[in-house]
Amino acid sequence: MDDIPEINRGILLLFFYVYQQHKTCILCCQCVLQPSRNAILDETRRWKFPIPFILTDSLELNAKGVILQAFEEYRLRSCVDFKPYEGESTYISFTKLSGCWSYVGDDKKGQNVSIGERCDNKAIVEHELLHALGFYHEQSRADRDDYVKIWWDQIEEGKEHNFNKYEDDFITDLNTPYDYESIMHYRPLSFNKNESIPTITATIPFFNDVIGQRLDFSAVDITRLNRMYDCANTHTLLDQCSFELNNICGMIQNEDDNADWVQMLSSPADTDHTLSGRCRDSGYFMKFDTSSGVVGSSALLESRILYPKRHEQCLNFFYKMTGAAGDKLVIWVRTDDGTGTVHNVKKIHTITGDGDKAWKIAHVTLKVSEKFRYFFQGIRGSSNSSGAILIDDITLTETICPSAVWQIHNFTSLLATTPNGTPLTSECFYNPEGYSFGISVYPNGRDDAYSDYVGMTMHLCSGENDAVMEWPAMNRQVTIVALDQDPDVKLRMSSTRSFTTATSGATWDDSCQCHRGTDFGWSTFISHQHLRRRSFLKNDDLIITADFNDLTHLIKTEVPVIPTNGNNDITDGKPMNMVKLRQDVPKHREARSANPCHPNPCFNGGVCVEGKGKATCRCVFVKCTVCSLLDYYFSKHGHNV
Ligand SMILES: [Zn+2]
Repeated sequence: MDDIPEINRGILLLFFYVYQQHKTCILCCQCVLQPSRNAILDETRRWKFPIPFILTDSLELNAKGVILQAFEEYRLRSCVDFKPYEGESTYISFTKLSGCWSYVGDDKKGQNVSIGERCDNKAIVEHELLHALGFYHEQSRADRDDYVKIWWDQIEEGKEHNFNKYEDDFITDLNTPYDYESIMHYRPLSFNKNESIPTITATIPFFNDVIGQRLDFSAVDITRLNRMYDCANTHTLLDQCSFELNNICGMIQNEDDNADWVQMLSSPADTDHTLSGRCRDSGYFMKFDTSSGVVGSSALLESRILYPKRHEQCLNFFYKMTGAAGDKLVIWVRTDDGTGTVHNVKKIHTITGDGDKAWKIAHVTLKVSEKFRYFFQGIRGSSNSSGAILIDDITLTETICPSAVWQIHNFTSLLATTPNGTPLTSECFYNPEGYSFGISVYPNGRDDAYSDYVGMTMHLCSGENDAVMEWPAMNRQVTIVALDQDPDVKLRMSSTRSFTTATSGATWDDSCQCHRGTDFGWSTFISHQHLRRRSFLKNDDLIITADFNDLTHLIKTEVPVIPTNGNNDITDGKPMNMVKLRQDVPKHREARSANPCHPNPCFNGGVCVEGKGKATCRCVFVKCTVCSLLDYYFSKHGHNV
């Protein structure tokens, strides 16, 4: 295998300064994604929602933040929900044990999910929770031999059982096709005995670069989850519209205006955002023509009545203003006036055209707690306006808008022209507390070893609030997202990474005439291969969002387990309730071993060496030497940097 999917080359954080100081590859040992065996048929092992959870204090602070992020992804896409444990008889206790693993299904007595060292990645938590919800690995399906080939002679001795498949009287495919893109699929090099030689390959070679992806849930993962749990709705998705259908998602033209928004089909002159003008007979958007009418004429496009469950929402949409600078797009909400009528209006945000005629993304925070409508008002700004205002791909979720949104145009040409090691640097943004921070993107990698990856880092900037902010900025979580611009938010497979701060420092930077903190981040944020798949570069724009959140309130989260009749010993990592499902089926938890090198915890084909009961990974790739530096680094500084 020449091409190794991102996961195999290490998806986790590589802190650049470590690299710089030691000039050696430290990225070959990653989290231990222990294999297990797709959806369990036994309905007694399915959960009731919300699922009680405990975040034990053994967890890294970053892991706690990432687990809560993963919960939000479930709430966005399904009816799965979680709640803090309050003495229930069944629950999930997230604990830092050895590696990343979970039991399959609800044990009914409380169970651990281990988020061990270097498992603190949102996609990994999503994967482990799918196990807990009752799903096995994708390649365990009864029909898997039609889709993948298992290279039995390349599997590490004694590990063959990890490639077992289960017959259709034990697991169900929930009437979905084999899914190479599933977050539950093994990667090609899983349990291999010869470096770089795969143990599992796809029948359709294209998917060899897809299997093992750990970006986010695939579309089929979501379909299965929602079928297993009869989900009719999601918790946090209120509304979304790509304007592809004639009913325009129930949006209405308000009569109290003097112009209209018109549903338009994509054309060479005006391409839509959903399909970027690439398709005939589809690709619609809404257009308000600002080339005629009197100055100040306006058109209102109004949502149906929506019923929020939370108090804060994020309205995300794409817009394009092709007229003269000065045309306006105003976002409003109309709320209940106290009589049950949605009547009271409030202006939320105004976007003024600046002559830039590209599609742009907008995130607008709404804070509504009662039934409401949101609406767009287009306003013709000047008599010489000759264009239009276009909107497309609206998403309204009950989530918090990101603090930072950075849209980088013409990314393909930046990939072609930006040298390895050269960053593009964002403006500085503010988090809700008042800290200022910026993002750097390395289109062709931060260093030679990863020139086929986009690297990303975050730095603190000096800002207007520095005198009152607390320094150093400890226990903050940095989360950076490269946005998959799929019009359906449930199907987005964005790349998300987080780390927590432990120290900070800043030096004066002449280039920005400001203080800049050290860059922290990832050399391997996303591979060029993944970047070109899906919709990361729609309209040739890369969109990055980032947050810098205070997690101090998560330092102490553990609550004691209230004994019930069952055995609720959750602290030793041992199986608590080994319910035998069938005599001839291995136990329903992911295999663990006393030997830290079995199964091989090393990624990138790293060779595992055991010493004093601890695993050390030795890299076998070019430029990679001993990977224990990473262990050394983490032992010195902890995982949080
Ligand atoms: Zn697994």
